[in-house]
Amino acid sequence: MREGVRIGFVPTMGALHEGHRALIRAARLRCAALVVSIFVNPTQFGPREDLAKYPRPIRQDRALCRKEGVDVCFEPTVEAMYPNGFQTMVTLPTIARRWEGEARPHHFSGVATVVTKLFGMVRPHLALFGQKDFQQSVVVRRLVQDLNLGVEIVVCPTVREADGLAMSSRNIYLSPDDRVRATTLYKSLQTGAEAIRNGVVDGEAVRSAMAQVVKKEPAITIDYLAVCDPTTLEPLPTVTGKVVLLGAVRIGPTRLIDNILVVAKQARRKF
Ligand code: AMP
Repeated sequence: MREGVRIGFVPTMGALHEGHRALIRAARLRCAALVVSIFVNPTQFGPREDLAKYPRPIRQDRALCRKEGVDVCFEPTVEAMYPNGFQTMVTLPTIARRWEGEARPHHFSGVATVVTKLFGMVRPHLALFGQKDFQQSVVVRRLVQDLNLGVEIVVCPTVREADGLAMSSRNIYLSPDDRVRATTLYKSLQTGAEAIRNGVVDGEAVRSAMAQVVKKEPAITIDYLAVCDPTTLEPLPTVTGKVVLLGAVRIGPTRLIDNILVVAKQARRKF
């Protein structure tokens, strides 16, 4: 199938929302055959995480795929993906260690393994991922390069609710009060971006400005807020060029992640 027709691929865990729809539409424009996978991948969940209760509205998901002109909705079973005897895992020790990797130690190994398997099964020419999961997109780019997978990776902008909250299948876990508070993370990232645009170059000063915003909400705890190089994800003591502001917070039982890309003032002047 790979020869002749350009195959686009959008891997998902289902519970599809407007963020997924944007990836599907972006893919549709770039390929002749479009595959969407729906697979709640157990190897990327920690033992105390939400694997069992992860939403699985499969009929709605299929309807969305149909409406968006998806050619194949690929729904492998856990047994098909991880049969008895399965043992090969893909790990990225450095890039997967920080940030999400600290809170979720085996998460990116699960992601890298399932993405490698799905690419092997679907054999796409291009695959689309969301900026929403910024570290994941960095991991996938690295994986494709390191293992010569030959798949073009396209990263699409984060789709947000009207009040700025990044869309996520997990937002349904938020109570009505927590849903209101949840915008704090994006506000904090925007505050950091604004500081950078206003010429603040000290990475710690930017981070601290972001933290101030979250600390005003006693119901929210910070997992991490960071000012990083968008390729290595290493924290930047001094902000120059393109940077990514990363954040993860906990609101009650729910963990939210988000990020913003921003270009520092000095770098922008050069263009
Ligand atoms: P998931 O189903 O959560 O594994 O996500 C599948 C793909 O959709 C990943 O590439 C995510 O980064 C992407 N995605 C999830 N939420 C959003 C969003 N709000 N905007 C854009 N892409 C998203």
